[in-house]
This record gives sequence, C-alpha cells and structure tokens, in this order.
Amino acid sequence: MILEKSCIESTRPKDARTGYIYIGKEQYGEKYLHRYVYAVNQPVGFKFKPGEQVRHLCHNRACIEPTHLAIGTQKDNMQDSSKDGRLPTGLAPYNGKLSDENVKQLRREWRTCKYTAQELADKWNISKRYFFKIVHKDRRK
Ligand SMILES: [Zn+2]
Repeated sequence: MILEKSCIESTRPKDARTGYIYIGKEQYGEKYLHRYVYAVNQPVGFKFKPGEQVRHLCHNRACIEPTHLAIGTQKDNMQDSSKDGRLPTGLAPYNGKLSDENVKQLRREWRTCKYTAQELADKWNISKRYFFKIVHKDRRK
C-alpha cells in the first residue's frame, strides 16, 4: 500500500510485548497512543465498538500519522499481522530460524531504514549475527 504521508513516529516508549506506544488508560481513556490518536481525529463523541481495533496501514506500530490509522476488526488485524509476519502462526522463529516468508519481510523492513539492526533482531527474536547473515545474503541477489 502506498501512503501519501510519511510516518510520524512517537518517541514515547514502546510496549515491550506489543511494540505499540503505551500511554495509560487512566489518563487518556485508551491504553495505546495510536488508538487515542485515531479516536481524537474522529467526530466528537466517537467511541470504539467492542472488538474494534485500530490498524496501522503502514505496519509501523509506533506511527501516529492519523491517515495511516484505520479501524479494523480483530480479523483484519490478524490478517495484517500475518502478512506482516508478526503473528505466531508457526512461521514465527520459535527455533531461532525464520521462514522464507519471514526472511523476505525482515529484508523489506530493513530496507525501509526505519529500524536498527538491534530493533529488528529483537522484533524477530533472532540473534544479530543471524540477522546480518540474512540481510547480507540479500545483497547478492
Ligand atoms: Zn505510518
């Protein structure tokens, strides 16, 4: 998907488990920043319906550019996530190795220059050494 605007990344700390920016329900009424940003950009009185999720069209979970946020169901989100390689669908690197699909995704992410090697290695739960092996191989193709 081609998005007109580039991502706006918040520098607030990310939730270690989900990668989303955590803000705190008590203060903002939403646990995560992207949900909050989505909600405040809707007409007054907007409320999420149960089960509604805010998707990142850009797949950048730290992004808070309102045009990159869209409402979706759990199912949409799962589809996004599995396309994105984020779900433990059996493709996940439970043994420290990535599937071909994951490898492709990781290389794509690396080429965006949005992430450091360490961030990607952490995200994919792989060693940095293995990470560099993957992206290095990519160059030869
Ligand atoms: Zn974005």
